[in-house]
Amino acid sequence: NFPLKVPITLPNGQSYEQPTGLFVNGEFRPSHQHKTFEVINPATEEEITHVYEAREEDVDTAVAAAKKAFDNGWSMSNPETRAAGLFKLADLLEHHSETLAAIESMDNGKSLLCSRGDVALVTKYIRSCGGWTDKLYGNVIDTGKDHFAYSVREPLGVCGQIIPWNFPLLMWSWKVGPALATGNTVVLKPAEATPLSALFASQLCQEAGIPAGVVNVIPGYGKIVGERLCKHPDVKKIAFTGSTATGRHIMKSASDTIKKITLELGGKSPNIVFGDADLDKAVRNIAFGIFFNSGETCCAGSRVYVQDTVYDEVLEKFQAYTEALGVGDPFKEGIFQGAQTSQNQLDKILSYVQTGTDEGARVVTGGQRHGSKGFFIKPTIFADVHENMKIVREEIFGPIVTVSKFSTVDEVVSMANNSVYGLAAGIHTKDVNKAIDVSNRIRAGTIWINTYNAFHQSVPFGGFGQSGIGSEMGAAALDNYTQTKSVRMSI
Ligand code: NAD
Repeated sequence: NFPLKVPITLPNGQSYEQPTGLFVNGEFRPSHQHKTFEVINPATEEEITHVYEAREEDVDTAVAAAKKAFDNGWSMSNPETRAAGLFKLADLLEHHSETLAAIESMDNGKSLLCSRGDVALVTKYIRSCGGWTDKLYGNVIDTGKDHFAYSVREPLGVCGQIIPWNFPLLMWSWKVGPALATGNTVVLKPAEATPLSALFASQLCQEAGIPAGVVNVIPGYGKIVGERLCKHPDVKKIAFTGSTATGRHIMKSASDTIKKITLELGGKSPNIVFGDADLDKAVRNIAFGIFFNSGETCCAGSRVYVQDTVYDEVLEKFQAYTEALGVGDPFKEGIFQGAQTSQNQLDKILSYVQTGTDEGARVVTGGQRHGSKGFFIKPTIFADVHENMKIVREEIFGPIVTVSKFSTVDEVVSMANNSVYGLAAGIHTKDVNKAIDVSNRIRAGTIWINTYNAFHQSVPFGGFGQSGIGSEMGAAALDNYTQTKSVRMSI
């Protein structure tokens, strides 16, 4: 039997105890079949530990625990009780922030700079969810003087939550926070590649006084655990973040039991630089837009459009800026871009580099692995692209960006909207009227003007088109976790 907690020395020298069991009903336990899977450090390609692998029967046990916790009180708990749990959880996350950031960098490969930013947003978001618990307002509705009518918002029940590997802890918080604030209970499946931070954070739920069974975390494979969650009759909602292909599959699996569903899916977001922009700032933003989090960002600004009047100048500055970015060991000072999360992901990105070259695009910089060990790739810029190339159309999910030229506003709006996705877009200009006009015309869930990848816990995040259904963060996230009940009374 593999131990339920193992001592781990992090790459920064700090030691901690990593839970490895399934977190069910407030305790760590082995899976029914006692199988485990390996967790790899993508920067070294070495094994970190094993964690227990859940199967269908473990899903059933976790769902039963979550249902019991829902029925036995959490769904009817006072807002103050839920707020106290979430506030305490935020304090504990803050207290362990350095450990959590290091776990995230070790497990995912992202730079410590990125992980620290993630953990800061996680803490703010969980605290913000605590503040929502007593602000779940219903309505009083005028139905004439013989009747009295009002509506209230009630929790849905057990929520199945399935998350990806690019922001393991941040996605855990975007799922767990609003579900708990609104009185739901959860069974969450982390991505198989990155289960460590979600397991560590879940034990903090226990310490925060959140009752056993309210939060359950079961690592396992999508096709087994994810699938069972989508079909389980006692799971009332599926909240999923991941690829559009899996999202499509999840919609089908969840349809037999007509579950509520929210999907945060892929993107191929345009990032536009107009000739009148502050070019140095725009270059910083287009680099941050694509290379942040090693390019493994659903809202990455992966299609850059530059106005012809400044195209050569921007491309030159962008190349110089990119070549100066620190790439390598996520724990080293000054490193901006760490490792890709898996060998699969590295191979997929490199195959897109090959496709781009075969299609006739020009590699301005990058296009190769960085170093010989670890899943590192040099930040890569493609120029001389045309709109129907695969590298312009498909989500690569790595540090690969295409740069295209445009001349008019109408032309760039049409290029920007030429995608099945609609997650985000960037606009760089000093002209406020133009910025508002273009943002009105672009079909994307988030528009960043003279900035990029700027997140705030109160600002909703979701997508148009095949980028998903529903929004996360802000007040919008609460709608995903409540059902309106109307009450009408004869007087
Ligand atoms: P993925 O779809 O392969 O996996 C995501 C999760 O789904 C994992 O936990 C996986 O185990 C699970 N899964 C896989 N098959 C399943 C199935 N048949 N049934 C149920 N669950 C299943 O995605 P990924 O490759 O891990 O993540 C990258 C993708 O996520 C990118 O496309 C990216 O754009 C997207 N993403 C979107 C957002 C957003 O907010 N819109 C945020 C982060 C990532």
